[in-house]
Formats: sequence, C-alpha cells, structure tokens
Amino acid sequence: MEHPLSIYNTLTRKKEPFKPLHEPHVGMYVCGPTVYGDAHLGHARPAITFDLLFRYLTHLGYKVRYVRNITDVGHLEHDADDGEDKIAKKARLEQLEPMEVVQYYLNRYHQAMDALNVLPPSIEPHASGHIIEQIELVKKILDNGYAYESQGSVYFDVEKYNKDHKYGILSGRNIEDMLNTTRALDGQDEKHNAIDFALWKCAQPEHIMRWPSPWSDGFPGWHCECTAMGKKYLGEHFDIHGGGMDLIFPHHECEIAQAVASQGDDMVHYWMHNNMITINGQKMGKSLGNFITLEQFFTGDHPMLRQAYSAMTIRFFILQAHYRSTVDFSNEALQAAEKGLSRLMEAYGHLMKLQPSAASTVDTRGLREKCYEAMNDDLNSPIVISHLFDASRAINSIKDGKATISGEDLKELREVFHLFLFDILGMKDEASAGGNHYEAFGKAVDLLLSIRQQAKANKDWATSDKIRNELTAMGFEIKDTKDGAEWKLNN
Ligand code: ZN
Repeated sequence: MEHPLSIYNTLTRKKEPFKPLHEPHVGMYVCGPTVYGDAHLGHARPAITFDLLFRYLTHLGYKVRYVRNITDVGHLEHDADDGEDKIAKKARLEQLEPMEVVQYYLNRYHQAMDALNVLPPSIEPHASGHIIEQIELVKKILDNGYAYESQGSVYFDVEKYNKDHKYGILSGRNIEDMLNTTRALDGQDEKHNAIDFALWKCAQPEHIMRWPSPWSDGFPGWHCECTAMGKKYLGEHFDIHGGGMDLIFPHHECEIAQAVASQGDDMVHYWMHNNMITINGQKMGKSLGNFITLEQFFTGDHPMLRQAYSAMTIRFFILQAHYRSTVDFSNEALQAAEKGLSRLMEAYGHLMKLQPSAASTVDTRGLREKCYEAMNDDLNSPIVISHLFDASRAINSIKDGKATISGEDLKELREVFHLFLFDILGMKDEASAGGNHYEAFGKAVDLLLSIRQQAKANKDWATSDKIRNELTAMGFEIKDTKDGAEWKLNN
C-alpha cells in the first residue's frame, strides 16, 4: 500500500515506516481494562489513541483485526505476585459472583466507550475464557527451561532467561539494578528471585476464581493472558501491540520474555504506548481524591468539576495532544476544548450551507495533503486539528462575504473536513444528535428534585410524593440527604 505512515516503536525508540507482515492484513492487540470498577480517564486515553490508529489504518485500506482483551482474572492488587485478585476482592466485598462483577463493569465500560465514539474491537477475548491456552503457554516455557515450579505455583526464571536473552529491552531497565533494588528474599519465599514473576499461582483455599492445572488448582499470572490470546487470534508474529505507558514495565516486558521463552522470538513488530493523564498536574489516584470516572465527567458530579463535560469534549481534549505527550486535565483546559470543538462544529455547519462562486479567493486546496502528512507522522492529531482550525477561519470569511470559493474547491473542502473530523478523528456532532444528553438529563432531574424540595418546605406533601413516586417508578433511586436529595438511575 502506497503511503508514508510512520509510527514510533517503543522497542527501537524511533519512528519507523509502517509495513505490515501480511499486507493488507494488520494484526493489532491492545491491552484492555481490568473490569472491577468504573472506567475513568486512564481508560479513555488508550481507547481513543488506538481507536484513532484503528480508524486511520482502516481508512488507508488495511483489513485490521483489532483485539482488545478483558482482564477478568489474575490481576492482583499492587500488580505484584501477592495480594488479592482485584475482581475476586470486589466480588467478596459486594457478595457477588466474580463474573457478575465483570459483566456489570464491562457493560458500563462499553457504554462509556460508545459515548466516546470508540469503535468496538474486532475481538474482545476474556482472560477467564482462555485458561487452556495460558496453561499451554506455561507448559512450553517450563519445557524450554525458563520457569520452575514451586509449591504448586510456576514462576518465570528471569535470571536464567537473562543469561540467554536480554530481559528489560522494552523498558530499558537494567536487570542488575533490579536485582539490587528489589527486596531481599527471606528464604520462606516460593520464588528463587524477587524479580521472577508468576506464570501460574496456586490458589489459597479462600480464593474463589480457580481452575485445575498440572501444578495446582489455581489461576494464571496476569501477563500470560495477552501472550496467549495475542497468539491465538493474531498468530505467532503480529504487527502492533499497544497500551498505556504504565504497562511497559512489568506487563509488556514480561510478555516479551514469555514470547521469547516459549517460541524463540518476540511476537510483536511495533510496540506502541500512549502517555499518561494527570489531573491539575497530579497523578490520578483513589487516595488523592482526584479519581474522576468518565460518567462523573459526563454528569459533572464530582467536587473537582465545575461543570459537566460531554464525551466529545473529552475525546477532543485527548486528541488535541499527541498520544506520546502527557495530558493534564483541568477545568480551564476542558472548557477551552469545549469552545474549540464547538467552533469546529459551527464551521462545519456553515461549510455545508456555503454557496459556490466562480473562483476561490481563499486557498483551501492543500488541506487534504497537510492532514495526511500530520497523520502519517506518528498520528499527529493536534496538527490535524490545527489545520482544521485554519480551514474553519477560511470558512467563516467566506460565510461573512469576505472571500469566495469555487464549486470544485467547496466539494473538496467538505469532503476533507468530514473525512478528518468525523471519520478519522472520530468526532461526532453532539448538538445535531440532540445535544449533551447526559448533561441536559441530569439538569432536568435536578430541577424536579429542587421543585420537590420546595414542595416539602411548603408542606405540599402531595406534590413532593408525586415527584418521588413517579421518578422511582421510572427507575430512579432518590436518597434524601441533609441538604436536599441525591439521585441515581438504576439500569
Ligand atoms: Zn496486556
């Protein structure tokens, strides 16, 4: 395929021309969510980054098989080989079957991704549905001598592996440093070395998510699923493996080691990673009180948010930064993104109504080329957006009668604007699609509850009960608090 797309490969640390292994097919694997809580900004960024890549590759004519997995077993607290499984813990606390937890949060994740206009992947495999493949992987690594069994668990032998291959090539970490900085073993530990990671864990008696294996009733280590499922759906060698930068170590480093230890070489041609999101300059974290879920952004229901932000504002804001740059969320920045996006959408509205003249006095001819050039340069979406802003200035001057455009140029401009703004950047016009549903809807319910509050103050019980009962019948859960009422919609 003739195009000069280049993408940055984390492994080689440089931009490389994109050349798939089996043109026109492209295999792309992105690490998906661990579904034990609501999706937040940290989920939005990789989803949008790789949606942009998926859309662009598809636009270029590739047949992309996009696999995004669901981690529903084996992801332990602290990402280490100890601690409780995140999903099992949630299930225990909420007295649910673990798969109920998974299904509940997966449904909500899909709703949030739909709102962000993130296209569904081609395959969305669950780790728990691929235990056999993971056991096969562990067996291979054991057979090849890069793992050992210890009290029913199986660990990857990092030191042994590092003698034959190099451990740490993706993250650039030095194994000697890691050996020196990881905690000393007390002799009681099952592992030979603190940096060895679990391929299979023997389940403690209280552990509910368990499967039989040659070594014990237990569960696979977190890193196994992506190696096993990537191979199953994309083959021993495939084009792109992506995820957030926080996955480079240990997750992707361990995946490379598992692939090399089991089949002799890495499976992946291009490793791609999006940078992280901070909030007002701070890392996001539950303990920092700045952990804002996507739904909270959409409704504005969080003390740090001055207003609700539509899903398209969030998407646009993320795309306004290059995926390898950091993004810092603040109310000011989001409000600016909201304004910018509405300027672009207004310009598109004007563009569709412009009348052609005999000749053009504005130059919009180079737009297509410039936008391709930016996208081909490692998906430089902020540059594409700046070109669209330039074009919207031209559109506005034509609308105001200060410039003219020929019929041919107008047709081209409409096509290019639509192609890049909607098809490739994946924006959608929320105003014409009925506005920000979430925001308007939330405000309407708040209004009803404030009328009910007023009725209660006036001892107008009939009105206050009517509002409460009818909202309840519609599926709302109303909870009275000391300064009013809170609501949520049970779905
Ligand atoms: Zn993964």
